[in-house]
Amino acid sequence: MVKLGPVFSLATVSPSTGDGETTDNGEAIINLDHGDPTMYEKYWQRMGDKTTVVISGWQFTSYFSDPKNLCWFLEPELAEEVVRLHRVVGNAITKDYHIVVGTGSSQLFQAALYALSSDASEPMSVVSAAPYYSSYPVITDCLKSGLYKWEGDAQAFDKSGPYIELVTSPNNPDGFVRQSVVNRSGGILVHDLAYYWPQYTPITTPADHDLMLFTVSKTTGHAGMRIGWALVKDEIIARKIVKYIELSTIGVSKDSQLRAAKVLRAVSDSCGVAHPFKEETFFGFSHHSMESRWMLLREAVNRSGIFSLPEFTPGFCNFWNRVFEPLPAFAWLKCGDGIEDCESFLRGHKIWTRSGRYFGVSPSYVRISMLDRDRTFNLFVKRLSRIRSQRRMRLEHVD
Ligand code: PMP
Repeated sequence: MVKLGPVFSLATVSPSTGDGETTDNGEAIINLDHGDPTMYEKYWQRMGDKTTVVISGWQFTSYFSDPKNLCWFLEPELAEEVVRLHRVVGNAITKDYHIVVGTGSSQLFQAALYALSSDASEPMSVVSAAPYYSSYPVITDCLKSGLYKWEGDAQAFDKSGPYIELVTSPNNPDGFVRQSVVNRSGGILVHDLAYYWPQYTPITTPADHDLMLFTVSKTTGHAGMRIGWALVKDEIIARKIVKYIELSTIGVSKDSQLRAAKVLRAVSDSCGVAHPFKEETFFGFSHHSMESRWMLLREAVNRSGIFSLPEFTPGFCNFWNRVFEPLPAFAWLKCGDGIEDCESFLRGHKIWTRSGRYFGVSPSYVRISMLDRDRTFNLFVKRLSRIRSQRRMRLEHVD
């Protein structure tokens, strides 16, 4: 039997539900396998009705949103808020780009593969530098398309001919800022910028790549809305992306687009009215939450003596107007102490994570979501800090 990657086992794993402080008897399962961004619920609860959307039964019944636009199913309100938010944050250029909305950036990723390979005479190679986002291989090959084929780690890629390189920056799973690695003629780049937001990484420059993907899932935490957008320079490619979405889902939920527009507007408005560092701004809240979570995690890891985390170089952020160290949405944890399978080791402590093997590297690594609710995260760091290396335990015993 073929073992499917974790992306397909979603239904078998119950998400966490709690919040707040709690004591740990070691019995509760701490599920940090998925990158479910529930951490942000707290902010949106505080905002009360600011983002409430009421839609009557007679509204938005048509397939069409803006028939004159290249992306005819894009709600003008959402397009406006996407442009505004990128301008407020300074993380991407939108002038002279076509905006294409998708059912999450996952659909846009598939649409981009179709658009970039539909004229190829043989299947285009699709690559990404390991560790790469674990969904790329499974999504690329799930339909066994004749247009494109997953070829794995971009650093080991030596086939001739055209290829598509996926550049995820900051990267899922390890949080590092990335550039393309193959750099050969005939290569087309897709930049997945899901995490290029100021709660996670310094905004150093407005991105201006040919094809960029964004998603509300990781921007505002609204993964359940299933809204993403692509910024596309080339009109022909943009039209093909639109075509794919037309063929697969005849557009994208208008209800979700309107909700997304309202949420993005609230984020931009919050940046305008309060000092950006204050927790009433969305990025103020999310950045501070990430900062304190990373501090707690690093303390727990140092105490354990078994694990290690990536070290990041601080960078100047144009949005915050200060230097800070990246605060990724995932912790890329490495097990030492002779432990080869970190996922199984942590499972023994009832902590569920995703093994490095799904990301094209060694199982001594795991990816851990940093975006769960407070209660789950606090339980996790407490439990992790109690796991000690044999050596550390011996030393503590002697003390
Ligand atoms: N790209 C990356 C790098 C991601 O981490 C994710 C979400 N885990 C996605 C794309 C998919 O996002 P969406 O929810 O918009 O489909």
